[in-house]
Amino acid sequence: MTPLQALQKYFGYTQFRHTQQEIIDHVLRKQDVMALMPTGGGKSLCYQLPAVLLNGLTIVISPLIALMKDQVDSLNLNGIPAAYLNSSQSAEEQKDIAIQLQNNRLRLLYIAPERLFAADNRMMAFLKTLNVVQIAIDEAHCISQWGHDFRPEYLMLSGLKQQFPDVPVIALTATADKLTQKDILEKLNLHNPAIFVSSFNRANITYRVTPKKNSFNQLLKFLGQRKDESGIIYCLSRKSTETLAADLKEEGYDAEAYHAGLSNEVKARNQEAFLKDEIKIIVATIAFGMGINKSNVRYVVHIDLPKNIEGYYQETGRAGRDGLASDALLLFSPGDAIKLRGFAQVDDNPGQSAIMLKKLDDMVNYCQLHACRRQYLMHYFNEPFPDHCGSCDFCLSEFTKFDGTLIAQKALSAVARLKENFGGGYIIDFLRGSRSEKIWAEHKALKTYGAGADISKADWQRYLRELTSQGYLQTEDNGFPVLKLTAKSGAVLKGEQKVELISHEAIEEHEHEAPAHEAELLNQLRQKRQEFAVMENLPAYIILSDATLLEMATYLP
Ligand code: ADP
Ligand code: MG
Ligand code: ZN
Repeated sequence: MTPLQALQKYFGYTQFRHTQQEIIDHVLRKQDVMALMPTGGGKSLCYQLPAVLLNGLTIVISPLIALMKDQVDSLNLNGIPAAYLNSSQSAEEQKDIAIQLQNNRLRLLYIAPERLFAADNRMMAFLKTLNVVQIAIDEAHCISQWGHDFRPEYLMLSGLKQQFPDVPVIALTATADKLTQKDILEKLNLHNPAIFVSSFNRANITYRVTPKKNSFNQLLKFLGQRKDESGIIYCLSRKSTETLAADLKEEGYDAEAYHAGLSNEVKARNQEAFLKDEIKIIVATIAFGMGINKSNVRYVVHIDLPKNIEGYYQETGRAGRDGLASDALLLFSPGDAIKLRGFAQVDDNPGQSAIMLKKLDDMVNYCQLHACRRQYLMHYFNEPFPDHCGSCDFCLSEFTKFDGTLIAQKALSAVARLKENFGGGYIIDFLRGSRSEKIWAEHKALKTYGAGADISKADWQRYLRELTSQGYLQTEDNGFPVLKLTAKSGAVLKGEQKVELISHEAIEEHEHEAPAHEAELLNQLRQKRQEFAVMENLPAYIILSDATLLEMATYLP
């Protein structure tokens, strides 16, 4: 049977998607593969189809019990013998599966990493007696601290290649970030792997970012136009998922909360109800969603700022798996950025802090962007993309713009009069007529001094940023950043070129919120590292990272 015939026979699809075909060919040739494909792209098929064609057992490493069950159920429905082993099963059930394995009755076995290496490697020894022909590592980014969903137990997989040196390994993830990719390859010790990257663009999703003002009212307005549709609302903290779900219920919406601190029973019930369309809205922390295959999610809302683009992109990617038009809305407040910056600063691991902060900056830049959001996202994932997508808030020109020519002229002439020698902060103080010693002594006689006193400091910062992103100003590094004119500046100064700026009236000022209590929280969490590790049944040599601690904090009281 050819792969295409098997696709039709077992899965009922007529053609391969993305890079599925090439990936499958490689696995069939016993080569190691790393496959990067967006959420909903069809990663499972890349190992399930070889599992049908190869004569033997495929081991699938998967992080979540709920995920294993879904996959195994649907494989069995397609007539492919598969099973999973996890702690939710009775000894009887597990024994039954072991017997099926010994008799070569199963094509796929799903198992969590800690299970694989549990009980003095007895499981490993048993699996080595079987005819293992493929090992698939799903959600492979879980092995990387740099990814957005680090699971320490995945680190154990680094020994896998040694245990099965001749078995091809296929690692799959929707995280395309370069650093994470490299980390996955190194940690898994893949042998000369072929790397497949599919386009990450999700053309049917419209991306919007709106200043967060009164989030609940903003949310009600958004939901008002989507009454019968299914959606996911992400919040930063466990507590706010519960209050928000309750508030939405009061407004007549079928909403339930989901976070890792709820009992397994409640989690399973809420997830099930959402998957079956019995409830429309799930209000969740990022604990919700991995591997959830619900095709008709019409929108994903982020009430709070995500920590990085990878997480944001994966979460928004849960909308519109059926290919129909869907929405991603993010409510942005600078206060959230300050709060997360506090989280990211971990003094016992400066290297990691620096990376987390960089990723947070990229996320904040995305929110403050005055250009096509999709292009930014695609470039972030190193994928070429034109500067106009036609379906993000910028391309749909949903920003309120106004004629900002006069403002632009003031800014550019201030830069010129200060001889292109100063940074944004100084230029703003000059424009606002600051009495600071240096400005007063040296520049108060210049013509634009004080010409922008009617505009707040924060607005000036935004205008300078916009003028830079529109190419009327540029930043140069003279040891410190200095603003300079560009080839486009002259026409504005001479009044030959109009400049449109974006109105920021709606943006609230949160800039002075102190994140002190979050730093305190992190300190407390660090002291409980060991306790947490025990709670999660992790081996003693695993040290939980600060990032993981903070994730866990979202589901602790
Ligand atoms: P992910 O990449 O997120 O793991 P899945 O493997 O869960 O995605 O697949 C998402 C959906 O796409 C599933 O419903 C799957 O059956 C479907 N799918 C996968 N491959 C194809 C294909 N070649 N043609 C049509 N549908 C496919
Ligand atoms: Mg998947
Ligand atoms: Zn766009």
